[in-house]
Amino acid sequence: MKIICIGRNYIDHAKELNNPVPKKPVFFLKPDTALVKDNKPFFYPDFSEDVHYECEIVVHINRVGKNIAAKFAHRYYDEIGIGIDFTARDLQQECKTKGLPWEVAKAFDNSAPIGKFLPKSRFADINNINFSLDINGKTVQQGNTASMIFKIDELIAYTSRFMTLKMGDLLFTGTPAGVGPVKIGDRLIASMEGEELLNFMVK
Ligand code: ZN
Repeated sequence: MKIICIGRNYIDHAKELNNPVPKKPVFFLKPDTALVKDNKPFFYPDFSEDVHYECEIVVHINRVGKNIAAKFAHRYYDEIGIGIDFTARDLQQECKTKGLPWEVAKAFDNSAPIGKFLPKSRFADINNINFSLDINGKTVQQGNTASMIFKIDELIAYTSRFMTLKMGDLLFTGTPAGVGPVKIGDRLIASMEGEELLNFMVK
C-alpha cells in the first residue's frame, strides 16, 4: 500500500509556514514503513531536532481506481480516520531551500501514526467534520474539513490522474494551522467530532 499526503490544504496553515496558497493540490508519498498503529509510541528520531506534529483527516481507499471523476470519488473510500503527519521541520526547511525532495523530512519510519477508522456512513457530511489534536491535555489544533482548499473528492480525482489508487491506500488530507514541535514525554490525543481515535506517547 501507499500513503498519499496532501500539503498546504488549509489556507491558515499555508500562511503560518509562509507558503503560497496552491492553485492545485500538492502531494507527496510516505511508504508503508511510516505507519504506526494501535496507539504504539512514536520514537523521536536521532536525525532531527525539530519534529512537528500535523494532525490530519485520513481517508481509506477501498477500490482500485485511475482517473476518477470527482463526482464518483465517494465510491472509492469507505472509512475516515485521523492521523499525524510527523515532519522533521529542520530537514524539510533544508530541502525547500535547496529545492530537494522531501522524503528525509516526511517519509521516515513511524512518521504516520493512524488511529481508529470510522465508516463514512457515520458522517452526515464528509465536508463538515470537526477534528482536533490535544498535547498533554491542551488543544493545539482544531480543524474542520469544510476549510479544506481542495475537498476530499477533488483530492481523489487529482491524485488518481497521476497514480492508480488501490484498496488499502491511505490519503492524508492536509493539516490546519497550529502545527508545532513535539518532545519526548508528550502525549498526543486526536479526536473527530469529539470522539478520541488516537492516543499515543512520544518516546
Ligand atoms: Zn501534512
